[in-house]
Amino acid sequence: MDIVESLRRVLPAEAVIADRESLRAYECDGLSAYRQVPHVVVLPDTAEQVQTILKLCHNLRVPVVARGAGTGLSGGAMPHGQGVLLSLARFNRILRIDPLNRTATVQPGVRNLAISEAVGSCGLYYAPDPSSQIACTVGGNVAENSGGVHCLKYGLTVHNVLRLKALTIDGEWLEAGSTALDAPGYDLLALLTGSEGMLAVIMEITVRLLPIPTYAQVALAAFADVEDACRAVAGIIAEGIVPAGLEMMDKLAIQAAEDFVHAGYPTDAEAMLLCELDGVPEEVAEQLARMREVLERHGAKEVRVAVDEEERKRFWAGRKAAFPAIGRLAPDYYCMDGTIPRKQLAFVLKRMAELSEKYGLPVANVFHAGDGNLHPLILYDANKPEELQKAERFGGDILELCVAVGGTVTGEHGVGVEKLNQMCVQFGTAELAQFYAVKEAFDPRGVLNPGKAVPTLARCAEYGAMHVHGGKLPFPDLPRF
Ligand SMILES: Cc1cc2nc3c(=O)[nH]c(=O)nc-3n(C[C@H](O)[C@H](O)[C@H](O)COP(=O)(O)OP(=O)(O)OC[C@H]3O[C@@H](n4cnc5c(N)ncnc54)[C@H](O)[C@@H]3O)c2cc1C
Repeated sequence: MDIVESLRRVLPAEAVIADRESLRAYECDGLSAYRQVPHVVVLPDTAEQVQTILKLCHNLRVPVVARGAGTGLSGGAMPHGQGVLLSLARFNRILRIDPLNRTATVQPGVRNLAISEAVGSCGLYYAPDPSSQIACTVGGNVAENSGGVHCLKYGLTVHNVLRLKALTIDGEWLEAGSTALDAPGYDLLALLTGSEGMLAVIMEITVRLLPIPTYAQVALAAFADVEDACRAVAGIIAEGIVPAGLEMMDKLAIQAAEDFVHAGYPTDAEAMLLCELDGVPEEVAEQLARMREVLERHGAKEVRVAVDEEERKRFWAGRKAAFPAIGRLAPDYYCMDGTIPRKQLAFVLKRMAELSEKYGLPVANVFHAGDGNLHPLILYDANKPEELQKAERFGGDILELCVAVGGTVTGEHGVGVEKLNQMCVQFGTAELAQFYAVKEAFDPRGVLNPGKAVPTLARCAEYGAMHVHGGKLPFPDLPRF
C-alpha cells in the first residue's frame, strides 16, 4: 500500500496533504536555491500520531523529514521526493514555566521569541536569539544548535537546553539530559542537539531561563581599516571582557543598512563594530571604559556610546535589518556560515576580498565577530547563466578557508545539503565512520532525513577530498545514507 494511503488510515483527513499545489508550499526551507516537492506532508497534533507516522515510515522504509518553521539556511528541512514531510507546526504550546527553577518546558513548534515573551513578566528571558527568532521554532533551534548575537556571552542552544524528550524512528520515547546540574551516562542531549533531524524527532524541550539584565549599553566603533577592526575584536576578548554581543559589519553592509533603516551608521567607515555590554550599571560602566580604551588602541577612529535606549535600539535595528538591506543590492544573495578562531579574522576577511575579485561577485560581511562566526553574503543574479554555480563555488572556497585556518564549516546554520562537500574536507574517514555508526544505532534503516549533514564516503571520493585505493571505497560494508 502507498504511504499516503497508509497515513490516511491512521490520521485525520486534514492532517494529510498530498495534492501537488499544496505540497509546493513545503518544497524548500530558507535555502531556496534547493527545492524538492515532498511526496506527502503530515501535520499531526498529538505525540501518538507522530509515533504512528514514524513507525510507518520505519516499517515501510519511507524517508521522513521533520520540519519546524522552515527558516533553516542549509536545506536541512528540504523534503525527500519519495518521502514524508513531518511538520511539527501544531506542537506550539508552552507546557510549563517554572520561575523558581528558571526553566520552561515547551513543545517543538513553539517560536523562539515566544519563550521570552511568555516569561518576561517573571523578569526572565531565553538567551539564544537567532535573527529569525520571530519565526523559527525551538525544535528547529535544537536540531541546528542555533546561535545568535547573545551567544558569545550566554552560549548556543546546546548550552541553554537542559532536557529533551524525543521520539526515535521506531516510535519509542527517549529522554536526554536532566534539570539537575549533571546527568550520568553518555551525553545524548549534546548528541541530539545539532543532529539536524537525523537521529530522532524532538518532541519536548526544557530550556534554561536567565534574569533579564538590569542594564545594557552599546558602543559603536568605526574603523578606517578592516584589519584593525578584526584585531580589536580579539583585543576585547583578550582583555577579559565578554560582551553580550560583538558584531562586525563591513563597508557594503554598513551602507546598505544605513540606506535601509537610517540607524546613524558611519557610512565612510571600512568596518564597524557593535559592542554590547550588560549587567548592573556600575559593571557596565567599568567595562565600557576598558573597552573604549581597547578599541582606540586598535585604531578606532570613532567610538560612539548610545546616548539613550532609543539610540541603542536604533544601532541594533541597523544590524538586525542588515540581511534584508543587503538583499536590496542584488537580485540574489547566498549567505554562508563558517567559524574561525578570532585571531584569524583579519586574514580570512582579506582572503575573502581576494576571492570576491577572483569570482567577480561582491561580498558583504555582517557577522558574530566575537564568536568568529562569519556570515559572508555573496551577491549574485540567478538569472545570469552560471552565476548561482559561481556563488556556490565561492561559498565552498570560503568554508574550506575556514577549515584551513583551524575553524569549522558551520557556526550555527548546520550542514544540511549545503555543506556536504566541505564536511569531506573537515573530517577524515575515521570521524565519518563514527558518524555512520551513530546514525546506524539510532536509525538502522536510514530513513530519518536521509542525504543530509553527513556525506557518504562515495561523495567525498568524488569531491576529491578522500583518497580511494584501487577504486575501492574504504569501509565498503558501512551503510551509506
Ligand atoms: C532571516 C534569517 C535569519 C537567520 N538568523 C539566524 C541566526 O542568527 N542564527 C542561527 O543559528 N540561525 C539563523 N537562521 C537559520 C534558522 O532560522 C535556524 O537554523 C533555525 O533554528 C531553524 O528553525 P526552524 O524551526 O525554521 O527549522 P527548520 O528550518 O524547519 O528545520 C531545520 C532543521 O531542523 C530539523 N528539525 C526541525 N524540527 C525538528 C524536530 N522537532 N525534531 C528533529 N528535527 C527537527 C529539520 O529536519 C532540519 O534539518 C536564520 C534564518 C533566516 C531565514
